[in-house]
Amino acid sequence: MSTIAGPIAEPREGELGDKAPHPDPQSPPDTHPRPSLQAPGASQAADEGPAPEEIRVPVLKNVDRAVTGLITGVPPLLLVLAGWQLWNRELHWRDIAIFVVMYVPIGLGVTVGFHRLLTHRSFKTSAWMRGLLGVLGTMAVEGPVISWVADHRKHHAYSDRLGDPHSPHVDHGGGFSGALRGLAHAHVGWLFNHSQRGARERFAPDLIADPVISFIDATFVLWSLVGLAIPFGLGVLIGGTVDAGLEAMLWGGAVRIFVLHHVTYSINSLCHFFGRRRFATGDHSRNLLWLAPLSFGEAWHNNHHAFPTSAMHGLGRREIDFSGILISALERVGLVWDVQRISPDRQAARSLQG
Ligand SMILES: [Zn+2]
Ligand SMILES: [Zn+2]
Repeated sequence: MSTIAGPIAEPREGELGDKAPHPDPQSPPDTHPRPSLQAPGASQAADEGPAPEEIRVPVLKNVDRAVTGLITGVPPLLLVLAGWQLWNRELHWRDIAIFVVMYVPIGLGVTVGFHRLLTHRSFKTSAWMRGLLGVLGTMAVEGPVISWVADHRKHHAYSDRLGDPHSPHVDHGGGFSGALRGLAHAHVGWLFNHSQRGARERFAPDLIADPVISFIDATFVLWSLVGLAIPFGLGVLIGGTVDAGLEAMLWGGAVRIFVLHHVTYSINSLCHFFGRRRFATGDHSRNLLWLAPLSFGEAWHNNHHAFPTSAMHGLGRREIDFSGILISALERVGLVWDVQRISPDRQAARSLQG
C-alpha cells in the first residue's frame, strides 16, 4: 500500500539515541552523526546498503501500484471539480470550515501520532491516546500505520544513502535533470518503485507486537472511509441536503487528502533539497521555513534529523512547531509524559552556526 515517510525508533537519550553505537567507530558523532540511525533491524554495515531482509517487497506488486495510483491520483482529479466550484463562486464557507476541521486533527495524527510517537517514541502516552492518534493519522490515507513507520525508520537508518526509500540524492544522475528526477522520486515516485521499502518485521517489530496499533494497521481501509464519511455527515448536518454532504466530502475528503499528501511528500522531497541547515548531520536534511505552518512543524527537518527523538522539531524561538506545542499542552494536562527535549548544550554542540 502507499505509505509515506518513515523514520526509526529513535531512542531515548542514553539508550539508543544520539549515543547509539555508530557503524564506524572512527567517526565521532559530531562529524558523521547517524545517531538514531540504528533502527531495529538496520544492518550494521549501513554504508553498504541494506540487507535483503530489510527490504519489503509487496506480495502483489501491481495491485499495490494500482491502489497507490488510485489513492494518489483520484484526489488531484477531484481537485479540478473543486477548482470549478471556486471559479463559479459556488463554494460555501462551511466547506472551508469542514476542510480545516478535518485537516488539523488528521494532520496532527500523522505528525504527533505516526511520526513523533510511534516512529521515534519521543513521548509516552496511554493506550487509548495511542489508538486515537493512530486512527487520526490513518485517515490521512498514507498507508497502514506499521508500513508508514517501517519506511520512515528506514529513511532515518539510511538517510540519503543507498537504502533510503525516498532520497532525492541517490542514483538519479547529475545536473538539472538528475535533480528533477531525484525530487520526483522522493515526492511520489518511491511509492510506485518498490525497491527500498522498509520491511515491517525488521523495522517495526514493536508495533507489530502492539495490539492497539496492529488492529489499526489491519483496519486501514475502514479508517480511510471513516475519514470520508465524517465530512459527508457534517455537510448533510449543516447544509441539510445530500448535495451539501457530497460537496463537504469533496473539500473535507478529497481536497484535504490531496493537500496533506503533498505536504507530507514535500518533507521527503523539498526538505532534503531546499532550505537551511542549522545542524551537522550526515545527510541533506534542511529546514524549510514556509512549509512549517502547513506541516505542523515537520518542515524543521534538519533539526529533526539532528535530534530524531526530540518531541520538538522547532528548536528556536521563531521556529513555530504546532505539533510540539500540542505535545507540551498534552503534557501539562497529564495526557502524555516522558517528553524528550534536547538541552541547549546538546544543540550548541551540533550547531553549524558556531
Ligand atoms: Zn523522523
Ligand atoms: Zn528526512
